Amino acid sequence: MTADILIVGGGLVGASFALALASHNRELNICMVESIEASSESQPSFDDRSTVLSKSSANIFADMGIWPHLANLVAPIQHIHTSEKRQFGMSRLHATDYDVEAMGYVVDNKGLGTQLYSQLKAFSNVQILSPAKVTNLNAKADYYQASVLDLDSGVAADYQVKLVVMCDGGRSDLAKQLDLTHQVKTYDQAALIANIELQKPHQGWAYERFAKEGPIAMLPLPNFHGRDRSALVWTTSMSSLDERMALSDADFLSELQAEFGHRLGRFKAVGERTYYPLKIQKANEFVRSRLAILGNAAYTLHPVAGQGFNLALRGVALLAHNVLSSLAKGADIGALSNLNQFAIEQDKDAKRIQTASHGLVSVFAAQNLPIRFSRNLVNLALDHCPLAKGSFARAAMGLDVHKPTIRI
Ligand SMILES: Cc1cc2nc3c(=O)[nH]c(=O)nc-3n(C[C@H](O)[C@H](O)[C@H](O)COP(=O)(O)OP(=O)(O)OC[C@H]3O[C@@H](n4cnc5c(N)ncnc54)[C@H](O)[C@@H]3O)c2cc1C
Repeated sequence: MTADILIVGGGLVGASFALALASHNRELNICMVESIEASSESQPSFDDRSTVLSKSSANIFADMGIWPHLANLVAPIQHIHTSEKRQFGMSRLHATDYDVEAMGYVVDNKGLGTQLYSQLKAFSNVQILSPAKVTNLNAKADYYQASVLDLDSGVAADYQVKLVVMCDGGRSDLAKQLDLTHQVKTYDQAALIANIELQKPHQGWAYERFAKEGPIAMLPLPNFHGRDRSALVWTTSMSSLDERMALSDADFLSELQAEFGHRLGRFKAVGERTYYPLKIQKANEFVRSRLAILGNAAYTLHPVAGQGFNLALRGVALLAHNVLSSLAKGADIGALSNLNQFAIEQDKDAKRIQTASHGLVSVFAAQNLPIRFSRNLVNLALDHCPLAKGSFARAAMGLDVHKPTIRI
């Protein structure tokens, strides 16, 4: 069997890449292989997490035609409040100060995944194989050979493809097989995730509160059957994790309330708790002849800055643009000389974001006094200096980065 492009992994990034291409070209023969059924609870991309989409991500989704379908699923962030427990500094940023509708949009991953798959169904040039697994990739002179195993029937088939795009996440078996190596930095921390029901509406406020073990983020979620909710991302040391996961709901809420405070009123209930051990990971190469890597397979970031998917989506737009440009010129979509252009642009963007996220983690994890003092000054300065506030807000909204477009 043949395909122009084979996408390994139909998580948030793989599905976004398939839609980016299909929405701009109905001739390309695209095959996306996902090992876990999209509707399944164990689909890692579409779990109970929420994602903050920056303005640049909203623009890219608009370019794919999916943004109007996400409008009812996102909660706009109107205000951002950062503070530190028992310290003097705090800062507040407001969308109206920057003349924007929102400083970001919070979407639950399940809702985003459902929309991506439902949009993809409209394109007859996209074939979704799921549950199916790419078990082998072999580079040949003029194509890649991919072995795909149908996990329902147990039948295997070989595909010849012009370009393989690996969107198979941060724990790829195929990367090992292809000897694609990574640089990894682990933290002795995990992100504990849960949805929290609130006593009063969040009014579009996103909070980031720096506590002893790391930041606690509370992100506004759309109202759910009349219930006001925020999404919790609680950076927790590994030594406290098991204990926090094991607490009863009532004890968990009272510990959270004590750490976070009462800015969002009383916490009424907590949904299912999950956690992700935190690490930063970067692939040592992003392209080879007829092969490109996107999303967590290329870069895994610390969620403190909420930038992993936003960075990945800019990569999606860059690579889709690269493929469409090659097609328009009649060039080979798998040629390394073309893919190199994508790799250079994506790496420039990633380096900037990675340095900023790692810097944030280090500064806000630090317990020594001068650093603690200076982060309170940062908060104070942000609240009182319009210039500093302006550049911080632009970076948070993704407006300072280059703005890749898919169309050529
Ligand atoms: C707690 C937390 C909060 C976050 N918050 C934000 C945020 O606010 N904003 C933001 O921008 N980012 C955020 N991120 C980052 C974001 O979640 C990731 O960037 C994103 O999920 C990466 O998606 P992915 O598709 O690359 O990888 P994954 O979600 O891991 O998907 C990979 C897919 O590939 C499939 N697969 C693997 N191997 C194969 C194979 N051989 N054959 C077929 N299929 C295969 C898997 O089944 C899986 O579905 C957060 C991350 C965490 C952990």
